[in-house]
Amino acid sequence: MQTLTFGSITVDAVSDGELFLPFARMFPGADAAAFARHGGIKGEAISAPLTTFLVRAAGRTILVDTGIGADLGSLGRFGFGGTCGLLPAALTAAAIDPATVDTVVSTHLHSDHIGWNVTVGDEPRPLFPNARYVVSRTEWAFWSATSDSTVARCVRPLERSGHLELVPDDHVVAPGISLLPTPGHTPGHVSVLVLDGGEGGVITGDAAHHPAEMENPDLSPPFDSDPVLSAASRRALVERVEAEGLVVIGGHFPEPTAGRVVRVGKQRTWHWLGA
Ligand SMILES: [Zn+2]
Repeated sequence: MQTLTFGSITVDAVSDGELFLPFARMFPGADAAAFARHGGIKGEAISAPLTTFLVRAAGRTILVDTGIGADLGSLGRFGFGGTCGLLPAALTAAAIDPATVDTVVSTHLHSDHIGWNVTVGDEPRPLFPNARYVVSRTEWAFWSATSDSTVARCVRPLERSGHLELVPDDHVVAPGISLLPTPGHTPGHVSVLVLDGGEGGVITGDAAHHPAEMENPDLSPPFDSDPVLSAASRRALVERVEAEGLVVIGGHFPEPTAGRVVRVGKQRTWHWLGA
């Protein structure tokens, strides 16, 4: 993905790697051809890139999600394959010092979005030492009541060190950059809305995993915590991006990562940016 510009705000993709998941488990009964049209289908598998986003505005450096971390963890034990752990090197290659990131936003607290919140090793420390780590209060209410091992490793240390900041689901992160509630994949899942100078985009998190879901928003993966609610969130998201002409930026979308929903007759169709 090339740098996206919305008024005075820029969005850059930074990759932590790429997961491969069995398509039939991710979207049981769905038409693989409707997905393959937009890329990301390899044999029986669907690609799920682990893309994080650096959002920069006047004086602000915000990272949306932190990838899966140094290993695949529980997803590896579920039989998913892929490469991961690339984020620190990718930030170095992009000349981004982690100490300059002032805010880390978690769209939700699944392991493939919070892996590099902290350093590896026995005593994890915040990888972004000067950042506040923004998490939806609804999301934390759910996960803090569990014994999830990834949350224990990647979020509890932030709570202890005072880096964790719980916020409303529509929190304004910075002027023009705000959370957009899209619950259903997890109870407090949020997307990130960027609006400036009459231009805008949405970083979807896992409100959508592939552009085919923007054409058919009822396609909810069975591992969404509430597939009916996630479909309702996705429908509302699709209606909004279509009505306002917003760019859709998907953390698991195949390259080139960002596109638009365009209506052709009665059909919503996906168009990659630059295509
Ligand atoms: Zn994910």
